[in-house]
Amino acid sequence: MTPEGRRLLLEAAAALELDLTPRVEVFGQLLQLLVMAADQVNLTSLRDERDIVLKHFVDSLTCLRGGWLGGERRVLDLGTGAGFPALPLAIVRPELAITAMDATRKKVEFVGRAARELGLTNVEPLVGRAEALGREPGQREGYERVVTRAVAALPILAELALPFLPVGGLLVAQKGALSPEELEAGTRAAAAVGGEVRAVDAFALPVLGDARTLVVIEKTGPTPERYPRREGVPNKQPLF
Ligand code: SAM
Repeated sequence: MTPEGRRLLLEAAAALELDLTPRVEVFGQLLQLLVMAADQVNLTSLRDERDIVLKHFVDSLTCLRGGWLGGERRVLDLGTGAGFPALPLAIVRPELAITAMDATRKKVEFVGRAARELGLTNVEPLVGRAEALGREPGQREGYERVVTRAVAALPILAELALPFLPVGGLLVAQKGALSPEELEAGTRAAAAVGGEVRAVDAFALPVLGDARTLVVIEKTGPTPERYPRREGVPNKQPLF
């Protein structure tokens, strides 16, 4: 990472009240791995150091706002792509046990490789679709937290994520600007699958100022057996 990239990372993380000084080398290694792999495996559209630092690393770390992910928790990153937010969270919070799940095998293979090369023992890669995994014993109700970034609209996320949580578990969904309509539809969908919106935290991404929202949904009752519906249906016919 260049000195400018390092400065940006530390400055933006400080705005999130995180001191990344002890971890900056690991982020530098991750940057290198991403840039090297990006051409082989269409992993991410971001190639430029500044973009990767701010729009992947710092953006992922905003999931820590509010302390919703807590301490020693089993966390599922649903739709992790090239490992976001899973990898930055695993670097900064070694006490979190994070399963990085995605439907695309080559992305998950990259995440597994990156975790090994960075020496992260708290990341478990998992290939699969939420619709199928959310019905599997051991996966259903298998995590205390589900985190997602840029995966789907809130009503779809509620149906895909809540089956992975036991009652009392939390979905922490990182989104861009959230319309009142999406929040309303998400609230209704959450109720259908056993959840209630606990918090809506609207904020600006450090340095860039882009609008972001963390939506926290608590599982307050069991998810009916019929959810999640079969592959593709939650996306094609959202509950609300
Ligand atoms: N979270 C990453 C990020 O923020 O960079 C990736 C975002 S990418 C736009 C959305 C990812 O979600 C894709 O990699 C896709 O394969 C995955 N995805 C979407 N629906 C999914 C599902 N039902 N089950 C598993 N993965 C899914």
